[in-house]
Amino acid sequence: MATGFTFTVAATDGAARTGAIKTPRGEIRTPAFMPVGTAATVKAMLPESVRATGADILLGNTYHLMLRPTAERIAALGGLHRFMNWDRPILTDSGGFQVMSLGPLRKLTEEGVRFSSHLDGSKHMLTPERSMEIQALLGSDIVMCFDECPALPATEAEVAKSMRLSMRWAQRSRDAFGDRPGHALFGIMQGGVTRDLRQESAKALTDIGFDGYAVGGLAVGEGQEAMFSVLDYAPGFLPADKPRYLMGVGKPDDIVGAVERGIDMMDCVLPSRSGRTGQAWTPRGQVNLRNARHKDDPRPLDESCTCPACTGYSRAYLHHVVKSDEIIGSMLLTWHNLHYYQVLMQGLRDAIAVGRLAGFVASFHAGRASGDIDPL
Ligand SMILES: [Zn+2]
Repeated sequence: MATGFTFTVAATDGAARTGAIKTPRGEIRTPAFMPVGTAATVKAMLPESVRATGADILLGNTYHLMLRPTAERIAALGGLHRFMNWDRPILTDSGGFQVMSLGPLRKLTEEGVRFSSHLDGSKHMLTPERSMEIQALLGSDIVMCFDECPALPATEAEVAKSMRLSMRWAQRSRDAFGDRPGHALFGIMQGGVTRDLRQESAKALTDIGFDGYAVGGLAVGEGQEAMFSVLDYAPGFLPADKPRYLMGVGKPDDIVGAVERGIDMMDCVLPSRSGRTGQAWTPRGQVNLRNARHKDDPRPLDESCTCPACTGYSRAYLHHVVKSDEIIGSMLLTWHNLHYYQVLMQGLRDAIAVGRLAGFVASFHAGRASGDIDPL
């Protein structure tokens, strides 16, 4: 791996692994869930609160930061860690996925993607070289290759063409990244739901050589069954001694299934975004705090949870602040959801370490099947 980085697998259980990525900015326990700090903030959370939930690493978004406040401005202000007051590891995406999501606002060529800002319509170009430059300006610890993800539905020929373009961009990303001690570069496997294409992509990436490997092009609407069927084989195409990152995943049961299949890192906006809409995740499944059933309920959201929302407040209070659009509603439920995700990750790590993942997964599913506590 890059100078200053090591990845150690301490234990395996089936395809699942637990271990740690050591970086100059601290250790990332794996399997790891990375909260998303899109615009240099995990919305509604102070960085120290995010850390208190158990997060070892955050994700930042190249696309959003390059447009506002701009990578150059963040660099002039001392880099993203200093700017957002988070001194632990940060992974940045390449911007590729988000510019591809702009639809008619972007134009794809061999060179890169030309697009119009969703903020003010200003014109920009993202290429592998520019993406590496922006991620270096931000000071990201783990840099992602610039890649392309075809919009679904796509034919196998379209997926193949797109994957091969991404592999050429992976080489250009590697060349542009250069030698940056203390910073790692991850490649991104593409190939849709086609096994041969996934294998071809994995070979192209491992021939180039990266510090870690992402499984890209999933969690884009293909459904959990299709995603798991790819994860049944795709992680096995990647080097066992490097971290494997599943981008943009997911719901708690997606995470558990991905870890069972050998994934080491994940990120998703879901716990923070759903917290801002009154949705909470607990061991008994999803709870909608907007529901009137909570109006007179003095019990905590989750009596087993040690987060501030559950130790200090009732369901009735959470219902009230969510219904009233009070800012503290977003703060408390985001904290709870991020805490729940990190407790889940710790449970997975502990279970893998002692070879009891199957039992852990069975009780995870049983808890969710039992449903939320009965109304009073
Ligand atoms: Zn809680």
